[in-house]
Amino acid sequence: MKNWFTVKHWNSDTFVISEWRHWEETHCYLLLGKERALLIDTGLGIGDLRAQVEQLTDLPVLVVSTHVHWDHIGGHRQFGMHGVHPLEQNWLQGHFPLPLAIVKQQLMKDFTPPEGSNLQDYDLFQGSPSLLLQDGDLIELGGRQVTVLHTPGHSPGHLCFWEADRGSLYSGDLIYCGTLYANYPSTDPQAFLQSLEKVTALPIRQILPGHHDLQLSAGLAVQMRDGLRTLRAAGKLCHGSGLHSFEGWSILL
Ligand SMILES: [Zn+2]
Ligand SMILES: [Zn+2]
Repeated sequence: MKNWFTVKHWNSDTFVISEWRHWEETHCYLLLGKERALLIDTGLGIGDLRAQVEQLTDLPVLVVSTHVHWDHIGGHRQFGMHGVHPLEQNWLQGHFPLPLAIVKQQLMKDFTPPEGSNLQDYDLFQGSPSLLLQDGDLIELGGRQVTVLHTPGHSPGHLCFWEADRGSLYSGDLIYCGTLYANYPSTDPQAFLQSLEKVTALPIRQILPGHHDLQLSAGLAVQMRDGLRTLRAAGKLCHGSGLHSFEGWSILL
């Protein structure tokens, strides 16, 4: 379990904590302000994320979730305060829309668990959020502010986090290189496009995604928006239309 996480010192006060050893290649982001730290997502819940975070900061940590999928909330149980959008609050309280067997299947696909992990007992994190996050909320870290953006589509309560001063978009599962998922019943392909319309109205200088490659072009958001506009025009922006491939990314509907 040693070295489960890879830490990248992104800039002086931001760290990326990644799980490159799992096929999902998840990323959590630790943003340090002067008064507190913000941890965006907690990954799969395989390694000891809290110990990792404590090596990086002694500030109090607020955990926020881009959305309530297993690969973004796995480490929540190791922390105290955590925030989520109200539309996914009940997913943390017994109403997650996918059976645990499917979650485990996804988790274990093409993956040999590291020695010392006990994934047979893997369970979806459940608990009461200490904070409900709404579109437009400002999270103050002390000399550093992050705005909450409600960006549904991949999931109903999906959030991106926007650091306007730096033009940084923490995009969760709305934007990344690889296959995007809008095929589960709880997804909404039309809302996915509306969310891309919303974020592309912002002056994005860098995109920090929830999965895979970290070196994204800031223009990827516009490419995805335009790709989904094309699908909509062709009447294919709907469940069941299949996998649509573009340059460097695809979307499963
Ligand atoms: Zn997801
Ligand atoms: Zn994800």
